[in-house]
This record gives sequence, structure tokens and C-alpha cells, in this order.
Amino acid sequence: MAKSSEKPKFSLRLLIDEEKNRVVLAEAGKDFVDVLCSLLTLPMGTIVRLLEKHQNPQSAIVGCFHNLYKSVSDMDVDNFQTQACKNLLLHPRSAKASHGRKLKLNIDDTEATKFFVCPNFVSTEACRKLYSHVSTTKCCCGSSMTHEIPVEEDQADGVLLSCRTSFVITDDLKVALNSMGLVMNVLNDLGYSGFDKLQEMLIDVGFEEILTLLGCLFTSEAPLTDTFLRKHCMSRKRKMLTPLVQESSVAGVAETPLTLKVYVRKSDRAVLYAECREEFVDFLFTFLAIPLEFAWELSIDNVKMGCVGNLCRSVKDLSFEKQKEATVSKCMLPYYYNGRAQPLDVVIQESPEYECLVSRYGHSMLSKKINKTVLSNGEILAKFTSVSASIGLVKEETNFIVSDDLVVTPMNSSSTISLLSKLQMNIGDIEEQVISIGKAEATSLLRASLITTSALTNGLSSFLSKMDPDEATQATPKIQKSDKPNEAWQLL
Ligand SMILES: [Zn+2]
Repeated sequence: MAKSSEKPKFSLRLLIDEEKNRVVLAEAGKDFVDVLCSLLTLPMGTIVRLLEKHQNPQSAIVGCFHNLYKSVSDMDVDNFQTQACKNLLLHPRSAKASHGRKLKLNIDDTEATKFFVCPNFVSTEACRKLYSHVSTTKCCCGSSMTHEIPVEEDQADGVLLSCRTSFVITDDLKVALNSMGLVMNVLNDLGYSGFDKLQEMLIDVGFEEILTLLGCLFTSEAPLTDTFLRKHCMSRKRKMLTPLVQESSVAGVAETPLTLKVYVRKSDRAVLYAECREEFVDFLFTFLAIPLEFAWELSIDNVKMGCVGNLCRSVKDLSFEKQKEATVSKCMLPYYYNGRAQPLDVVIQESPEYECLVSRYGHSMLSKKINKTVLSNGEILAKFTSVSASIGLVKEETNFIVSDDLVVTPMNSSSTISLLSKLQMNIGDIEEQVISIGKAEATSLLRASLITTSALTNGLSSFLSKMDPDEATQATPKIQKSDKPNEAWQLL
């Protein structure tokens, strides 16, 4: 790729065991560790998109997320509220997006969010109230909001490490402040009494290597070895895990329960398909906007997802050292990921307000707060709020089919007959159940979709009713074969 050769490179000092072909540890500066930390802030949909460009698209690295992403991309735009809703899922925005652009190497190629206002806003008061992220929004005066206006970036600090030091990184991505004692401990733990069997290697790390490392985060127990010595992130076969959430471990009933009709194979309790409405699809699709660190955290942190956990814990410890107090952070999503129901512990941000200084000569950029107490003659301080975002991402009143591996299809463009005939199984072996998705089910589903390719089965099987299949309540009213057979019998 010509583009990647222009990107900056870092040097990384590796200590390797040539005989065993493995990285024992790495020593890196702040810039590299910042990039490593920034991988955790990428929305899951961005990770899928980057990995598919980088890897063989057939290799699904992140559980069912590739199918989820492809479902959005394959689905006709008519099934979304707006084209913008579809774009926001294919190119998810994170609440921390502006940090990436300050990094020495930013692998997230998502464009900055754009702001548009009405072109008449300087002259007309009614036109300087609302901003939009798409230029097709209509202003109250009838014009489209086509005037793109620059916006001041947040100066917040977030994940970036402020401390100018160097770091030690183990092969399984535990990151800590460099010290001789630490290096000795790592060597000791790995059974090395000295440096006699080890070699130092100084390598260049660029865009391609960071992408390989991103894939290895999910698939490997030794990402540095796999990235820099084996140069592949799928070198080990992963075994698919079966996550089980104890129903008691996550308390509480969702305020807005989502319901799902699932079709279960009686013989092995596999969930073959689910039928659902737009609420559930909104919920599933917002998985793509959740940043990696929160995807890991929300799915209850003992989930074994490659080395993501090690890196998340390290970043927390490092920022703890920086701030000297524990930070309780919640998963925040920008206001436009306002689905119809969100049983996970996710906070939807309020849409921000902006100020703008307008005079007959022109205008300033949008800013959260303009520090100007006295306005010059003819200057106006305009306040802009966002045009109200639509509730929900996909169209209302729509039925969808979701497969076990999270391929989502609108009912109107899929054939239940062909799905059923493709299964080639005895209809008597399929049972129908209705399940409500509260916090526990949602958490289990997120976890299963991250680490397995059977999200519905692994995520929901522990919540299915254990009833004798014959006694299971039938969720679908049966089509009456002949009306009132009982009455006919009574007449005899
Ligand atoms: Zn206008």
C-alpha cells in the first residue's frame, strides 16, 4: 500500500528468544503505548472494518461481529431511518474520536464528524438555531443546511498517557512503567536467569504492524510474537468458548424489555433463528458503536478475549497512577446512537450545544463556550443545538430474522420457507420460545457475540425455559385447521 508507507513508524526494542522464536518482552516509548491504548477506544464496527481491509475477509476474528457489520452493509437503506443512520453504523463515531487525531499514528480512518448549518444563518435569526451532521437536513426557511462550519475540538485528555517515560510490554500485552526490577521479574517468571539466551532486536512498527497487532489482540495469547516474529494474527486456532452467565450475577429487569422469538432445536438446544422487531435490531446494531474497552467491560471482565483484558487492565492501572484516584467510567455513546431500548449499561450522551460569533463580516467556528463577555457592535452570539435525532436506527414496524451467528435480515427480503428447508431437519424437532432481553440476557449476548460464532445459542441458551418441549407454550397462534372440532365432536 502506497498510503501506509507515508505513515510514521515507531521503533520498538524487543527482547527475543530465537531458539523458541518468541518475544520475551518489549520496551517502548509513550507514542507506541498511546497507539496501543487507542486501539481500546475504537468502536467495534471500526475494528471489523479495519481488520477486513487488512486480513483475508473470510477470517472472522471477532466472533459474530463480522456478520453483524455485513448485515448493516448489505441491508437496503430503505430499512434504516435515514442514510445517515446506516453510515453511522458502518463508520461508527466514538465519544473520544478527537483523541485519535492527536496520535502520532492513528489507524482509525473515520472522518471527523461534520457540522452543517443553514447558509442563511448570518442574515436570518431563525436560521441560526440548529446544526446538523448531514447537509441534506432542511432548515425552517426551506433551504438545506449545506453550509459546513468548522468546530473547535475538545481539549480533554482521556486515554492518552501524559507521563513521559518508557514502558515494558509483555508478550501477552501487560503494559507497565519501565523499571529494572520489573524486567527482572518478567525474565524470572519466564524462567530466564540472564540474558545469555536472549537477543535484542530493534524493529520499525508502522500502520500494517499495528493492524496485525489489532487482530492478534483477539486471537492470540502472544500478540507480540505473532505480530513481529510470525507476522500473522491467525496462527493459532482459537477454540470457541461457551460463555454462561449465571442469571443471578446481573441483577435487575430491563425497564423496556425487548422480546425475541427464538426457534430452538430440541435435541441439542441450539438456537437456529430468532424473529424480532426493530427494537432488538437497534440494540444489536449499536454493538458496532461500542468501543472495544467497554465491549470487554460490559461483557463482565472475566471474558477471555485474547489479550484484550490484559491491555484494558494495564491501561486502567496506568491511568490510575496518573490520576491517583480510581476513575469510574461508563460506556458513553454519542446521542445519535439513540436506539429504542438499551438494556446494557450504556449512557447515551446529550447532544452538545455550541456557540458561534456572528457579525456581518462573517462568523467564528462552533465552540462549546466562546469566552467573550463584551460583544463588539453588530456582533451576535448565536447558540446552536442539534436537530433532533430520530429515535431508533432501523425503520419502525419492521420484522427481522436473526441467525445464530448474527446475520440480520429484514423479513421482507428473506424467505422463511427457504431458511426452513435449508435446515433440512424434522420440523417436530424445532421448538418456539419467546424470551425477553433484560440486562442479564443482553450482557450474555454481547459476550457470546464477541467470542463465539453462535451468539444466540451461547448467549441465550441458559435463559431458555427448561420446560418439557411438549408442554412449552406455543408462541405463535396456530392457524385453525378446522373450526371448532370440539363442538363437532359434542354434536355426535
Ligand atoms: Zn434557514
